[in-house]
Amino acid sequence: MNKILITRPLPEAVEKRAEKLGEIAYRKQTRPMNDAEMVSALNDFDIILPTLGDLFSEIIFTQVIDPRCKLLANFGVGYNHIDVSAARAKGLSVTNTPGAVTDATADIAMTLMLMTARRAGEGERLLRSGKWEGWHPTQMLGLHLSGKTVGIIGMGRIGQAIARRCHFGFGMRVVYVSRSPKELSFEAEKCRSIMDAASKADVIVVAVPGGAETKHLINDSVFAAMQSHAIFVNIARGDIVDEAALIRCLQNGQISGAGLDVYEFEPKVPDKLKTMENVTLFPHLGTASMEVRTGMGNMALDNIEAFINGQTPMNLV
Ligand code: NAP
Repeated sequence: MNKILITRPLPEAVEKRAEKLGEIAYRKQTRPMNDAEMVSALNDFDIILPTLGDLFSEIIFTQVIDPRCKLLANFGVGYNHIDVSAARAKGLSVTNTPGAVTDATADIAMTLMLMTARRAGEGERLLRSGKWEGWHPTQMLGLHLSGKTVGIIGMGRIGQAIARRCHFGFGMRVVYVSRSPKELSFEAEKCRSIMDAASKADVIVVAVPGGAETKHLINDSVFAAMQSHAIFVNIARGDIVDEAALIRCLQNGQISGAGLDVYEFEPKVPDKLKTMENVTLFPHLGTASMEVRTGMGNMALDNIEAFINGQTPMNLV
């Protein structure tokens, strides 16, 4: 029987199904694994189901000579916390959970866009503070989104789901940046560069994967190319954005607001961001619904089941 480690509590239905796949060990903590835990898990288990924050870096793999573990079945589509080539070099396969997360994450992008554009967080704080004196025609005027232009950086599954919501739901014009050609079921303009998209959009949304290739892809120059009334949204990964540059640009009014679900040094969120009224801050809520987390868990288990049965898992990365 395969020994399987699940590194965080998961929805009950997923844990129940996992019981049928092998001898399961549950890690009860909700915080990421530390280095020693990861090293011993690689030596002691056949399969690990890790998730965001479990930093399986090259250094971890150099500490195991002949790991017992043969599969890291990641819970989540983003796997930039796993050094995939270092894992492969030690004989491990890595899988993820694409698709299961798409709509939920696109919904959170829309929530961030709307809340930031319409100053919803600020308004709620005003009301709760007891300082609201009643409606008047020029109170808390925000950015009207209908008919505006959204710029999608990374037109993959989530980028397209956001674009569809913007186009069909809000009548927005869509401009985007993508390395490969896309067949889209709606009108959208492919931009020459991120700067090009930044200069055209009223809202920029980032939807590329994190990792070395995209680190600080969004930096001072991108913010400088944006219009001063524009807002910036990141639902992808924190390190794609130079957070210090974002703070500078918000402070000097180079852009008008930001909506963030992820942070460069997550879970640390700079105090400067927390004190800005024009910034909406979520605690990485992208996929946080029971159905979606159950779907992600089931997809990770599908990958494990296929692997145990000697088949190629559906979602090898
Ligand atoms: P996806 O379908 O693979 O789309 C990613 C897009 O990024 C693709 O269009 C790809 O472009 C582009 N891309 C990849 N590497 C790039 C690079 N080095 N430079 C520029 N563009 C690059 O992935 P997805 O399912 O949409 O997910 C996107 C990311 O969202 C995930 O990796 C994850 O980190 C994040 N995410 C966050 C949450 C959350 O809770 N906030 C939830 C789910 C996912 P091409 O098509 O041109 O190759």
